[in-house]
Amino acid sequence: MQSEISGARNLLQESEPAVLRPAVLSRLAALSRLAVAALIASIVAAHADTCPRPDTLGTARVLTVDPKTTPRVGTQSFPDTLPLADHELVLTFDDGPNPPTTSKILAALAKECVHATFFMVGRNAAAHPQLVKRMAADGHTIAHHTLAHANLKQIGYAKAVEQIDRGFSADELALNGKATTVPTTPFFRFPYFESTPALLDLLQSRGIAVFGADFWASDWNPMTPQQELSLIINRVKAAGKGIILFHDTKEQTAAMLPDFLRYLRDNNYKIVHIVPPPVKFTN
Ligand SMILES: [Zn+2]
Repeated sequence: MQSEISGARNLLQESEPAVLRPAVLSRLAALSRLAVAALIASIVAAHADTCPRPDTLGTARVLTVDPKTTPRVGTQSFPDTLPLADHELVLTFDDGPNPPTTSKILAALAKECVHATFFMVGRNAAAHPQLVKRMAADGHTIAHHTLAHANLKQIGYAKAVEQIDRGFSADELALNGKATTVPTTPFFRFPYFESTPALLDLLQSRGIAVFGADFWASDWNPMTPQQELSLIINRVKAAGKGIILFHDTKEQTAAMLPDFLRYLRDNNYKIVHIVPPPVKFTN
């Protein structure tokens, strides 16, 4: 890159009276394009190489969640939750992707080398497939939250199943270019945590784990980022561990997340990244 830039500089100096000649201009343009491409490549490589990184929160461990043995978790909705030790937290974000706020959240997570799980709304995934792909490329878990965020308890069984399946399809199409109702990551969260026994049975029979949460930031309520930060820190202290629910569609959450992650780092909390079991190929 250095030689290309100095080459461009030399070209300018050597050919001062002739800089307006089309051939010179096009060579300059090509050189600057090369320089920019090389710069971007070096930034991407540096980014990829720098996690784990000293002085960041980091991702402490990866926890495989097998829907066969763990069909539903989250004490706000169910009797059981994930097997977390004291000070271990799982970060989850719902309702995105939403470019302005999700991008800030991805940047904050990348800065601290933290992996999270995104329960996305299919219609948002369909509208912003590039963000879905970026989440996956950054190492986050892509989970599911229906097509259009209806309250599945209120629309009847058949329509609810349709919302679930069309959500999977939209998310998978955005992620892998293939619409399928068998999700790559079989993790699902009900909008508003509103489930029914029949839908829970169906998801269990299809090998899909249902996630509630252990506590949340209440970020659907308008508040300042500072208020949200204080609220969630108090809840982390009170719970000591657990699955936390945020919304990556909320500006106040995006704004307070860098400070929250710093707080977790400074107070010895550990981030656990949840992933599905590896896919087994059978003949
Ligand atoms: Zn939601």
